[in-house]
Formats: sequence, C-alpha cells, structure tokens
Amino acid sequence: GGGIIGCCTAYFLTRHPSYSPDTHRITLLEAASTSSGGRTDDSIHDPATLADPATASKKNPAHDGIAGAASGKAGGLLALWAFPSNLVPLSFQLHDELAQQHDGERRWGYRRCYASQVECQARVPGGLSANDKSTVQQTGRDAVDGNHLTKGLHKDHRSKIRALQSLGAPEDLDWLDTDKALVAYEGMGTPKDTAQVHPELFTRSMAQLAQESGVKIITGARVTAINKVADGSQVESVTYINTKDGQETLLPTTHCVVAAGPWTSRLLPTVPVTASRAHSVVVKSPQPISAYALFTSIALPPGFPAPTPEHAKGTPAALKPIKRTQVVEPEIYARPDGTAYACGPTDQTVPLPLTSAEVEVDRTRCDDIITQIGAISDELGKDGEVLARQACYLPQGGPFIGESRKTKGLLVAAGHTCWGIQNGPGTGKLLSEIIIEGEAKSARLGGCDASRY
Ligand SMILES: Cc1cc2nc3c(=O)[nH]c(=O)nc-3n(C[C@H](O)[C@H](O)[C@H](O)COP(=O)(O)OP(=O)(O)OC[C@H]3O[C@@H](n4cnc5c(N)ncnc54)[C@H](O)[C@@H]3O)c2cc1C
Repeated sequence: GGGIIGCCTAYFLTRHPSYSPDTHRITLLEAASTSSGGRTDDSIHDPATLADPATASKKNPAHDGIAGAASGKAGGLLALWAFPSNLVPLSFQLHDELAQQHDGERRWGYRRCYASQVECQARVPGGLSANDKSTVQQTGRDAVDGNHLTKGLHKDHRSKIRALQSLGAPEDLDWLDTDKALVAYEGMGTPKDTAQVHPELFTRSMAQLAQESGVKIITGARVTAINKVADGSQVESVTYINTKDGQETLLPTTHCVVAAGPWTSRLLPTVPVTASRAHSVVVKSPQPISAYALFTSIALPPGFPAPTPEHAKGTPAALKPIKRTQVVEPEIYARPDGTAYACGPTDQTVPLPLTSAEVEVDRTRCDDIITQIGAISDELGKDGEVLARQACYLPQGGPFIGESRKTKGLLVAAGHTCWGIQNGPGTGKLLSEIIIEGEAKSARLGGCDASRY
C-alpha cells in the first residue's frame, strides 16, 4: 500500500545499514493509479504547486495513486502527547530528523506549532436568523444534550469542556474571531511537543526518496492474494492485478508487508482493522495564518444551517436552520502554505470501496465544515477560498505492527487510527528492523505487537 505506512517502510528499508540495492529487491504495490479519488472535481489536485507552481516537489506522474487515501487527506498534526506511548517519541523524533535531512520545511511543510482547545459560539450566517435569542446567549454545552453533539476526530485528547478556562487567546491567533466567537481557550501543545507536516507531500516525498534508493513503485497494482508455502509457514509470493487491464501478476517474495490501511482486513481477515469515512476541506486564507491546530467545540445557535445527520446519505442540509443549539467539533490546522485544513466527524454511511479511487465525497458534509469554520473566522469564511472538498477512510483498531508468528515473512502495519501521520516514520523504522534484523530495536512494540495474528 502506498500510504504513509507503506512509503515509510520502503524508505526506512533503504536506510537500514545492511540494505544493499544489489542484494535486496523492494517493490511497493499501490492499488490506486490516481490520487484524485475522494476529492471533488473542483478541488486542487497537487498541493505542492500552491506556494510555487514550478516547485520541484510537484507530483511525480509515475506515482499518481500514492497518498490517495487517508495519508493524503489527513490533517498532519504530530505530537509527543499522541498515542501509543511506546511508538510516539521515536516517530516524533524521526519526523524532526527527516525534515532536517531532506529539507522537510520546504518540501513537505514541516514546522513546529501550537495546539489549543477553543470553545466558540458560532455567528449565524447572513440571510438566516436565530428564532430563540435567549438560547443563543448561552454557551454551547449548557444549552444542549448529548444527542446534539457531533464529536471531533481526536476527541480522546480533549479535556472536559467545563475545565476549560477562559484565559484569553494569544494575540497572534488573529484569524479567529476572538471578540464575537471565542468563549474559552486553553493551550494543549507548544512547539516543544507539537509539530505538523503536509501529509500528502510527506508521503509522496518518502516514496520518491525510497525510489531514488532502489525501491520499485507500481501503482494501479491491487494485491489480491498473499501466497504461502504448502504448510503455511512461509510467504512465497503475492498476486496482484493491474487495475487498468485486469492482467494478473505473480511476484515471488521472501517478505510481504501489508500496509493497506483500512483495507487491511480484506487481505488479512484476522487483523481487526475497521474503517470510518471522514470529510475534510482545505481553505486558502487571504493572508498567512499563524501556526495553530485548533480542537474546536462550536455551539451552533438556533437558526444556524443544520449539519448533515450522521446516517443521512447526501442530505441537502444547507440553509435548513436548526431549532435547538447543537455543538460541533471540527478540527482546524493552519498550514505554512497559507491554507487551513479542517475535518469533520466520521460517518458509516458508505462502506469502504474497492480502492481509494472510488471513495465518495458527500459535498454537503464538506459544506457543513466550511459553514461552521466560517462562523468563527472571516479568514476561513467570507474572505477564504475553498480549495478542496475531500473524504477518506480512517483506519481504526490498532496500530498493529509486526511479523506473524505462524507465517514467516508475513508482516502487517495497519490500523493507525487518528495518529498514523505522527506514527508513520516510527512504524517504518521498526518494520525495517524486524525484516532485516529479526526484531524491533528502536522501540518496544508493546501492545502494537501483531505477531499473534
Ligand atoms: C480526517 C482525518 C484526519 C487525520 N489527521 C491526522 C493527523 O492530524 N495526524 C495524524 O497523525 N494522523 C491523522 N490521521 C490518521 C492518518 O491519516 C492515518 O492513520 C494514516 O494515513 C494511515 O496510513 P496508512 O498508510 O495505514 O493507510 P492509507 O493512507 O489508507 O493507505 C493505505 C494504502 O493501501 C492501498 N491498498 C489498499 N488495499 C490494497 C491492495 N490490496 N493492494 C495494494 N494497495 C492497497 C490503498 O489504496 C492506500 O493507498 C487522520 C485521518 C483522517 C481520516
């Protein structure tokens, strides 16, 4: 799989001291042959060209399909306070080293940043009016019950909202309407323990660097079987089909790493990785925006356009006003290219398709996010330009990392939840050690150990 986990694994295999392109053959097979699946047609399709249309980090046409799933549509937040704790410090450190070695600041937007929780009161967009002014005056949580809360992606990190102190936001958080919309602010992370990357550019760079060191990358190659010797004790080959002409190929191999994100249990049914769809948007601000990742809690007052219900399929929610206050939790990450990324809640409405190329985007769910963030920030609202509406599948349940005890050479690295970008390099490094040295050296696998599957 050509997501962050597969690409980091390929990269770190080529950086292992015992690796030699003369004796080792590494092939990365990616099912999709386009990274445009899960994006509306009017979205930008190469973020590398945003800052400089002639940039050298432009998409390698031969790599279209790499980072086409969650690894290209995630936020890209990195944090020492992420989980699991056995993997996080190694991976956070590796992100820093990779950025230094390969000019990650320029190439994939690596930078240290702040992370904060903000409790906000949405302004009702023009053309609509609140029909219950008394409720609008209350702050969100006081006015709603649990059924009217739409949870954010990294919800496990949030403090109880009642504990949030109204401390006043930092002065440079000037792209948030701190006068009218901000109710409470609390810092969560600082540049000492928090950073970010552009996940699509990072993943593509890992693929490119791996290829330059000898990895063969084949896109439009969907693995359909992992073949073992007769008694099942050793991997022998993988079968993949060319998604364009349906031609089947058998690739002999000593090791097979299944890094297929949410698709993993289709190849390895005993590995319990599950999938939830999540929508996100990218908005360009008229001026650069300061380096904050905001975990919001926004109270939408009566009269605000109704968010699409979790189980609704393509509901035209836009402009239908809500009657009672509702709380939503989009996460907003300012990026160094002058854009902000924002993601909404997960849904289970559309099952995981065959490949990332067929991921369905529900435009109304993207428009929900756009309306909600526009109600607390003019830069991301009336003055912003929407560059992308997109959806992808969050792999859940793990991370599961390691070699099967039953089948030598069969490895898995999947189910990385909402921290797969943070934990990609650490996972790749550990896999390179397991494959070449027989065991993980740089960190304990701990609860991630997948040898039982
Ligand atoms: C909205 C959202 C925001 C997020 N924000 C963050 C964040 O801020 N920080 C963070 O650390 N993490 C974040 N994440 C999590 C992160 O995106 C994922 O954990 C990570 O991208 C998973 O990477 P992966 O390589 O395992 O899977 P994927 O990116 O899904 O890649 C798997 C690849 O395998 C390919 N594949 C599947 N089946 C086959 C097959 N049979 N043959 C060949 N190829 C196959 C797929 O086409 C795909 O390209 C976010 C996730 C979402 C959904």
